[in-house]
Amino acid sequence: MKNINEVIDKDNKLDLVHSFQDACSDKEFYNYLKTLPISEDILMKYTSSLQDAFKESKNCHYCRGLNHCKNRVVGYCYTPEKNNNTIIFSYVACKHEQKRLKDDAYKDNLELFDMPEEIANANLQEVYTDDKARIPIIHYFKEFMEKYQKGEKPKGLYLTGSFGSGKTYLIAALLNEMAKKKVASALVYYPEFLRSLKSSFQTDYNERFDYIKKSPLLLLDDIGAENESAWSRDEVLGPILQYRMQNHLPTFFTSNLNLKELETIFATTSSGVDKVKARRIIERIKQLTIPMELIGKNRRN
Ligand code: ADP
Ligand code: MG
Repeated sequence: MKNINEVIDKDNKLDLVHSFQDACSDKEFYNYLKTLPISEDILMKYTSSLQDAFKESKNCHYCRGLNHCKNRVVGYCYTPEKNNNTIIFSYVACKHEQKRLKDDAYKDNLELFDMPEEIANANLQEVYTDDKARIPIIHYFKEFMEKYQKGEKPKGLYLTGSFGSGKTYLIAALLNEMAKKKVASALVYYPEFLRSLKSSFQTDYNERFDYIKKSPLLLLDDIGAENESAWSRDEVLGPILQYRMQNHLPTFFTSNLNLKELETIFATTSSGVDKVKARRIIERIKQLTIPMELIGKNRRN
């Protein structure tokens, strides 16, 4: 007499063989299996997963790019791999995703503080060339990159101009280019950064503050648009600029205000009027930067 378990085992095995043979009647699937360095007796235990993997690999074969990906996880292919007498399935980056990962590796050198993620895609090659106002800035960028590569620490820009003219985009494009050369930047949307810094006293205040103070390259975006307080002027901005001046760390600003207007903003805080402290900040900015203007049509949609 046969043990009941043996009978069930045998039945199961027969089922596996049948469904495997059934699946293999699809020639394409069969050919796919032949490319795998795995023996049939192992393969037949995984027919349904192998069919999924085959479907995904077929999708990849005809795929023109990540936007056309038909797989369950975009950019990844469900792939079998032999592990002793079993098969492990995992999601492996396809060739398009591998290229994207490689092309995006420079983003590890960028730290965004309250800036939109897309800013990390700003690209110098795509800067509008139809606009003469950009030419001196592009010229300055070229010089900046050359000097920095030579080990000099050139001054940053104080870029002022009309709303939506592309100030942030331009500086970000330069810093992204520097990131591709492995130079790290912090890109800080200054008004929001101040708000979040204020609420981080109990947590990571020092880390955040130190990070932007010491970042090899720094953009303080939209300075002058914040709610000015004596604290932000004297305890935040002042020490950051002081440190960066002493250490020759290139620092960039964008603002809708010119330096004269910025000085007026810094002079009047909720704690009263202090022209001397405002002047000191402006002097530091002047030491750190070359002023330039970008007036142009509003490019925001
Ligand atoms: P600003 O900082 O002067 O207010 P932004 O840099 O935010 O202006 O630019 C306004 C809009 O125009 C943004 O959506 C930005 O992505 C787009 N933009 C600006 N310059 C370029 C450019 N050279 N190429 C592509 N898009 C740009
Ligand atoms: Mg801006």
